[in-house]
Amino acid sequence: MEGGSSYDVVIVGGGPAGAAAGCLLGGGGHRVLIIDRATFPRDKVCAGCLTRKTIRLLERIFGTPVEALRDAGAVDCAGTGYRLYLNKDLVLQGSPEEPFYFVRRERYDHLLLKRAEDAGAVVLQGDAVISLDMDKNEVVTASGRRIGSRFVIGADGVGSMVRGHFPPGCFDREEWRRNTAIALEIFIGRDELRLADAENGTPLHLDGQTYTPMVFLGDIFPGYGWLFPNSDRIVVGVCGIPQPGSSSLAETFRAFLSGIGLTAFADRRPVGHRLPYGSFLWTPVYRNLFLTGDAGGFADPLLGEGIFYAHRTAELAAFAVHRELAGSGDAAEIYVALLGRHVYPELDCARRLRDAVLSGLKIPLRFPVAPFVRMIGPHLAEAVHGDRSFRWFRRADGLHQEIRMPPSLPI
Ligand SMILES: Cc1cc2nc3c(=O)[nH]c(=O)nc-3n(C[C@H](O)[C@H](O)[C@H](O)COP(=O)(O)OP(=O)(O)OC[C@H]3O[C@@H](n4cnc5c(N)ncnc54)[C@H](O)[C@@H]3O)c2cc1C
Repeated sequence: MEGGSSYDVVIVGGGPAGAAAGCLLGGGGHRVLIIDRATFPRDKVCAGCLTRKTIRLLERIFGTPVEALRDAGAVDCAGTGYRLYLNKDLVLQGSPEEPFYFVRRERYDHLLLKRAEDAGAVVLQGDAVISLDMDKNEVVTASGRRIGSRFVIGADGVGSMVRGHFPPGCFDREEWRRNTAIALEIFIGRDELRLADAENGTPLHLDGQTYTPMVFLGDIFPGYGWLFPNSDRIVVGVCGIPQPGSSSLAETFRAFLSGIGLTAFADRRPVGHRLPYGSFLWTPVYRNLFLTGDAGGFADPLLGEGIFYAHRTAELAAFAVHRELAGSGDAAEIYVALLGRHVYPELDCARRLRDAVLSGLKIPLRFPVAPFVRMIGPHLAEAVHGDRSFRWFRRADGLHQEIRMPPSLPI
């Protein structure tokens, strides 16, 4: 770490959001410090699914095509097609030209953080930011460092300390809590799976398609379940918003595992983490603090896709901060305007679609979900991949494109 301890931008958190912001701002010639309380490689509870729009984003932010991610072991495997189940019935399957990829987060996050460092960001690991001195524009770390910074980017995940410094009135904390899910996962080795299959004497419900990513709607309300492939194991998980009077998510998970033929693993102890599930902040800026990724609640409320939104919101925040540092605009205004154009409409539509589908599954007579999903199926898959928008499934056009405007042009 440099002496003097004063930066243009301090980024709290070095996960997908922090690494992206660090890479772009460091590459843009600014003095940037990323601080993470963990020492990398560190793990993060996640199913690690990457969509096509994420692959494109990785190429342009980090200059890292998917082949390079594979060579570095960050991308572990590619899925074969996809399947969507509603109340255990297979309603949709397909084989998109480009597959879904699955990453191991400890390797993926480490690689991207190194890319940010190579681009010029200074990285401080193993020291948590414990508070922000808003009067002096300083961040204070657990080891007692005080570091001055013109901007602070909160990329510190769902339990964000930076968000905790937003005063009451900036966002509705109760609303945030109501739209934050809990996610649980277990990992099943492929050898274990084969053994359980042989012992049962019957093929698993999954009929051997264990390289096909599967999503299950209807078992958890509101929420969903998944089975995703890795090369040496499968990742099975559920996510849901706890409802008063309902059974615990751990019990629901056990029932879910049995329901998909994995009873042999129903007692395995899951790992868990919170996941933004429609909790995004409409104004994720307060003074010189900018929230990105999970810290701002930016994950897709339909399928919980957060890696893309972490990179994307970081890209937009970095652009906005860069503009103000270059003397051509107000970063807060620019960031909120860019989110309004490129992020909020998608998250809002995905949330409405989720609510319609899930409530239809609960009260089937009101809304025939299965025919509806079959009808929109191909468009839905393209929207998840980023080729279409969730807004009326029109073509995505410039939705996920790079924001590349000369500083003098209005956005
Ligand atoms: C079970 C589960 C499955 C998921 N599956 C998928 C999936 O398949 N695909 C997908 O796209 N998304 C998935 N997600 C969501 C995805 O994991 C997150 O959206 C993503 O990690 C958000 O990235 P981030 O950089 O905002 O935060 P994080 O990845 O949480 O990184 C935050 C970083 O900040 C650091 N930090 C926190 N507090 C401090 C502090 N005070 N000081 C310094 N450092 C700090 C942490 O150590 C961490 O490194 C899943 C989530 C869960 C829980």
